[in-house]
Amino acid sequence: METVTHFIAGEMISHSDHFIDVFNPATGKVTCSMEMGNAQTVTAAIVAAEEVLPEWKATPPLKRARIMFRFKELLEQNKETIAKLISEEHGKTLPDALGELQRGIENVEYACGAPELLKGEYSSNTGPGISAWSDSKPVGIVAGITPFNFPAMVPLWMYPLAIVCGNCFILKPSEKDPSSTLYIAKLLVEAGLPKGVLSVVNGGKEVVDALIEAPQVKAMSFVGSTPVAEYIYSQGTARGKRVQALGGAKNHAIVMPDAELEGAVSALMGAAFGSCGERCMAISVAVCVGDETAERLIERLIPQIQALRIGAYTQESSEMGPLISKEHFEKVTQYVGEGVSSGANLLVDGRRLNVEGYEEGYFIGGCLFDRVTTEMSIYQEEIFGPVLCIVRVNSLEEGIALINEHEYGNGTCIFTRDGEAAEMFCDEVEAGMVGVNVPLPVPVASHSFGGWKRSLFGDLHAYGPDGIRFYTRRKAISQRWPKRATHEAAQFAFPSQQ
Ligand code: NAD
Repeated sequence: METVTHFIAGEMISHSDHFIDVFNPATGKVTCSMEMGNAQTVTAAIVAAEEVLPEWKATPPLKRARIMFRFKELLEQNKETIAKLISEEHGKTLPDALGELQRGIENVEYACGAPELLKGEYSSNTGPGISAWSDSKPVGIVAGITPFNFPAMVPLWMYPLAIVCGNCFILKPSEKDPSSTLYIAKLLVEAGLPKGVLSVVNGGKEVVDALIEAPQVKAMSFVGSTPVAEYIYSQGTARGKRVQALGGAKNHAIVMPDAELEGAVSALMGAAFGSCGERCMAISVAVCVGDETAERLIERLIPQIQALRIGAYTQESSEMGPLISKEHFEKVTQYVGEGVSSGANLLVDGRRLNVEGYEEGYFIGGCLFDRVTTEMSIYQEEIFGPVLCIVRVNSLEEGIALINEHEYGNGTCIFTRDGEAAEMFCDEVEAGMVGVNVPLPVPVASHSFGGWKRSLFGDLHAYGPDGIRFYTRRKAISQRWPKRATHEAAQFAFPSQQ
């Protein structure tokens, strides 16, 4: 069986005999065996990074960017192989895997603009004979910890930008689907990245804790669930690190009475059930303004959910794959049970789904709940599965208040034809990413991604302009050259331009 170890200083290395199984969620069969790294592995990655950091910091941004241009080409040339690796371990369909890779490549394209992005600011004559400029310096060694649900895209949110900013990067991918992440990292070295600038250390909490403890690691980017985000944020910042930690979500879509309903239904289908609901931007709550809107929406949703084509990525017709693991399948099934026992109306029950030929896979059908209320666990918690909850409200104001009271504030959207309602929604809703008739408002690479409230710990969002700010330190320089003919007397008052 294939084994996955660690990629450090351009070599695959091994440190222990502690391996775990990685599964194909469609078949329930083991695809490979992955080595769990430890503190020793983290030290090896740090040593490799420290060795190359001075040279990498001194490399002009244009030369760093050129490597990203080649990396982009390699990603495109290998996209079918990468998509297959993603789907085999994650379970998502091939078009969905290609989609996440494409969004990742767009972050590489953004990083190709490093010479422009890192250009400083300059002012002459800021005082008598004084000029000033601000420069963006690398932070040093940065670590990234990523979730299972986007094994290609989320790492690509992080390291291309961190690396073009002159940093070295240690990536700890999800232990549930490590193969595509590793494959992609190797392509960057093939593109010409000096060895040691990027290392991949596989593993779990032990590796994360070693990264937190290491004083050489100056910044950490995390994407995953909220409890782990909060843990890494509090532990990392307590040790003086810069941390951005993106957490979980419960994304609401408001459906107004004047919405173009057929379009809204298609949008909700993709946003709630795409990738089996395992997206941090998935819509899991549809907030219908008025009972009539709810009835019209439900009438259209039910047949479409029942007709969802669910299967393995190898079956071309599949629109939705399995959940990531047996444990997660059990958790999602349990949530559906809790929804029923707490009094919500289960209109479509996907729990007893049988996918012929894939009886050992972690498949669950789409589920639709109506009359969901705010005290229910299916409303309060992130299910991370194909479960859409309908909540009924009487007005847009009530819908916005509902969203604002929820502990998460990642993404949200509104379906309406009314510009005034949309403006009010955009203005008042407390979420980091907002869509108007756009169900998954994931910002493009030139904008930054991040939620509010307990969906993000830290100040700066991921990638885009905030990514550049996160991976650099500002330095402001004031400069004056002595003039031969003049000599200033000492000044004891604070210098100003009075
Ligand atoms: P997770 O929190 O279980 O794992 C994320 C990473 O943290 C993995 O690399 C894992 O090995 C590590 N980890 C897990 N437990 C840890 C612990 N106790 N201490 C230290 N490290 C630990 O998340 P997941 O199940 O892989 O991903 C799903 C979650 O990620 C969902 O909550 C989803 O909303 C969230 N997510 C958020 C975003 C976002 O941008 N906000 C994007 C994608 C996913």
